[in-house]
Amino acid sequence: MSANANAPLLDVRDVSKAFGTVEVLRAVSLEVKRGEVVSVIGPSGSGKTTLLRCVNFLESYDSGSIRIDGKEVGYREAGARQRRSERDLAAMRAETGMVFQSFNLFPHLTAAGNIMLGLRKVRGKSEAEARKIAEHWLGRVGLAHKADSLPAELSGGQQQRVGIARAVAMEPKILLLDEITSALDPELVGEVLEVVRSLAEDGMTMLMVTHEMAFARDASSRIVFMADGSVSAAGPPAEILGTEIDNERLRNFLARFR
Ligand code: ADP
Repeated sequence: MSANANAPLLDVRDVSKAFGTVEVLRAVSLEVKRGEVVSVIGPSGSGKTTLLRCVNFLESYDSGSIRIDGKEVGYREAGARQRRSERDLAAMRAETGMVFQSFNLFPHLTAAGNIMLGLRKVRGKSEAEARKIAEHWLGRVGLAHKADSLPAELSGGQQQRVGIARAVAMEPKILLLDEITSALDPELVGEVLEVVRSLAEDGMTMLMVTHEMAFARDASSRIVFMADGSVSAAGPPAEILGTEIDNERLRNFLARFR
């Protein structure tokens, strides 16, 4: 057993970030342990996406620390990005697979091709190995029969399932999900959440921003409520989404979903 086996897999400590004069994250701290699913909820503009982007090295932050599996992301100072090669950055991002609201699939590549790209370029897999892994994960999200379809030939729900397969195929330590059902027609939300649920059951560690309160309640180990760039409340779903809530901002936020 390694010395830090009980340390959080993701440890965000006092992270602050401003865009110009606008403070978007104010001393945000949160932990995700191995195998946990943590949901981040909160009003639009509260900094949820920026937080995920900092964890995924898509944004720098001004102060605080972000550690993944005990290793400092070290992406704080503005120059840090320039000092890292694109390949290095891609490898680090693969440790924290991210799935986006808008799918972000490459339109000219098939479902399998989208999954194979990172496996070939970042993980250095052969064409045959990458194809095999892509087929495995497409099967896992119920799309074995769509391997050779282009994104435009898939429904939104299917595209997002490819997006999830693409992220998990890289074997990230943690999966970051940024409002992955927000762009979907309501009837397609369920099939995507079902995939997330089954990955959670398999022990995948996840940090997800979501507006699906019922899903957050069911699937999360803990829920973090953000408001105005700060963590305003955090705790188990029964506590955060319960009926007796002292935190007025949280109460007002949840009232919209009731
Ligand atoms: P949420 O995900 O909770 O809706 P965001 O993290 O997207 O919140 O945004 C938090 C705040 O940061 C918002 O006020 C938004 O306008 C601002 N913001 C986000 N990205 C940028 C950027 N690249 N430049 C300037 N301001 C930004």
